[in-house]
Amino acid sequence: MDAPYAKLEQLEPGIGRLLAHNPSAFTYFGTQTYLIGERELAIIDPGPDLPEHIDAIEAAIGGRPVTAIMCTHTHRDHSPAAKPLAARIGAPIVGCAPLALETAGPRADAAFDGDYAPDRVLADGEAIVIDGQNLVAVATPGHTSNHLCFAYQGALLTGDHVMGWSTTVVFPPDGDMAAYMASLDKLRQRDDRIYYPAHGPAVTKPEQYVRGLMGHRMQRERQILKLVGEQPRGIPDIVANAYPGLDSRLVTAAGGSVFAHLLDLERRGLVQSDGDRWTTA
Ligand SMILES: [Zn+2]
Repeated sequence: MDAPYAKLEQLEPGIGRLLAHNPSAFTYFGTQTYLIGERELAIIDPGPDLPEHIDAIEAAIGGRPVTAIMCTHTHRDHSPAAKPLAARIGAPIVGCAPLALETAGPRADAAFDGDYAPDRVLADGEAIVIDGQNLVAVATPGHTSNHLCFAYQGALLTGDHVMGWSTTVVFPPDGDMAAYMASLDKLRQRDDRIYYPAHGPAVTKPEQYVRGLMGHRMQRERQILKLVGEQPRGIPDIVANAYPGLDSRLVTAAGGSVFAHLLDLERRGLVQSDGDRWTTA
């Protein structure tokens, strides 16, 4: 498959997509930047600070007014281009909150962008107006504590909360499995007709897809409970048993997700740890 780097794909009226050249084991072919609107624009997830990607965004804007540069969250594959793009085109950065630095520890999938400085933070349900239509922030903590999705004309821009190619990494301390599950349930109760994720293809049956993701996490949770019920186990042991044949580049991320499940189970009184090893409570 030829990935369409630097080529604007018009997905429907008012929603265009531009792929950044940052492919990896965590980003699939790369980060997808979305252009919302026709007469005026919002730019969602400008992506990594790659000059050729920022050039491509500027070319796709084609001189139209940009109301807002918006980020779903502040992983380094999503938000670092916001600042240089804002400087080039003179638009404000509007969207997710910056993270408190004490929560911005090392991460398996992507480091945090500590330079992110929004002009305006949107709370859950707050909107900006593009071409006379509301573009609404939907707070979806879990992948990160500051994650937002954006709803426009029945479509939901899902960032990394729901991806079209892989399950989402939930890595403590900023990632939180209980919050992630609650945010999936929040999406399940909406009636969006399509999802446009930051990585991977569009999701055309959102409700079914979200139910599948929730089922997958609940199955993983049962599997972890079963494993630590058999004998005390450390996280590497749980990963080896729960993810047979896992790509070695993804072992750390899988360990993070297992840890996120264990912390959630511990809060619910179902498991306990003696430091490194976990057992049922
Ligand atoms: Zn992310």
